Amino acid sequence: METPCFSLGRNCGSGFRKVQVMDIGPYTVRLRSKTSYIFKQLKETTYIKVVKLTAKIKLNPTAEQVKMLLTTLEEANAVCNDLSAYAFDKKVFRQFDLHKAKYHPVKETTRLSAQVIIRCISKVSDAYKLDKEIQRAFRRYGAIAYDSRILSYKSDSVSVWTVEGRQKIPFRAGEHQKRMLKHQKGESDLVYVKGKFYLLATCDIPDTEEETFSDVLGVDLGIVNLATDSDGQTFSGEQVEKVRQRHARLKAGLQSCGTKSAKRHLKKLSGMQKRFQKDVNHCISKRLVLKAKGTQRAIAMEDLTHMRKRTEKRLRKAQRSKHSNWSFFQLRSFIAYKARQQGVTVRLVNPAYTSQRCHCCGHTEKANRKSQSVFACVECGHTANADQNGALNIKLLGAAINQPIVSIRLAG
Ligand SMILES: [Zn+2]
Repeated sequence: METPCFSLGRNCGSGFRKVQVMDIGPYTVRLRSKTSYIFKQLKETTYIKVVKLTAKIKLNPTAEQVKMLLTTLEEANAVCNDLSAYAFDKKVFRQFDLHKAKYHPVKETTRLSAQVIIRCISKVSDAYKLDKEIQRAFRRYGAIAYDSRILSYKSDSVSVWTVEGRQKIPFRAGEHQKRMLKHQKGESDLVYVKGKFYLLATCDIPDTEEETFSDVLGVDLGIVNLATDSDGQTFSGEQVEKVRQRHARLKAGLQSCGTKSAKRHLKKLSGMQKRFQKDVNHCISKRLVLKAKGTQRAIAMEDLTHMRKRTEKRLRKAQRSKHSNWSFFQLRSFIAYKARQQGVTVRLVNPAYTSQRCHCCGHTEKANRKSQSVFACVECGHTANADQNGALNIKLLGAAINQPIVSIRLAG
């Protein structure tokens, strides 16, 4: 039941590592029913103390500065390609060796600063880490990394090194991004996307002290209802699904068309859907976390490793497009990192049987779950919304983790 480390990558706006802090060993939960299931080895997982987030800052360079930035990217990537050819040719892939062989020659023949050359060497060396069979090529305007020696942030501008000298370039950022920038630490990537320049700034958001909690808010993540909490509040995926379907129809039309312009539109469409879904996930996670914080509760969610299996099963059943999958992980990680920022504790629980178990009498059977949305206990006749019943079970497990007893009787 190992929960794997995962990171969302830069564009998702967050990424964090996870460590296991406590193993409460073989942990038995007895169910009050004829058939008794044993939940083995519930493990508690928590997050490392620092949340790394990426602030995306849009630069507003003058026409002249655009040229300078482009030339800078171009020269840096040209050097990367030279280094790559050398590395591939001579089979020199380690950063240290590459540096030793090429740093001075590059320094003498280009206008690149020492820092940029070092970053280029490391970029090339990294690129060969996966395999050394194919020579790596870098895009003309591929991203380059800046550290604090060649880039500094002011309140509404950056001072950035270019091949033509340092430039002060204004940027536009919202309040949230500006707050994040106060914790800017380490490198930033200068990227050029669709004619615009952005800085992807790594920020180490300090952890808020975990607040004590007196209760647990169970959260069940799903497809039809993206999230349902143990209070009975649901966050419907209806709107998201509508947009997805509309896009799917448009997509089908464009695909059969096959022209260049159709391809362009397809690309745009996929971006739109992703942004919409991301926005929805931000809203839901924010509301859940603030609700838990406002009522001094911890949040209990299902363990990620089990989520995957479950959603795949559910997806197949409902014949949904597979792409919905990433959205679960996004919503879940948004809840986790927002909780972290707000000092709300997150408990991960084993989701086994949470959808089959009756919250009222504890009877656990597959037949309890009549359909996607209806839960009706075959033992006691209790009926409920299936997701809410699940959320209540998750809540119970989340609360159980916190108690220092080995055996716990569920419900009754
Ligand atoms: Zn029942």
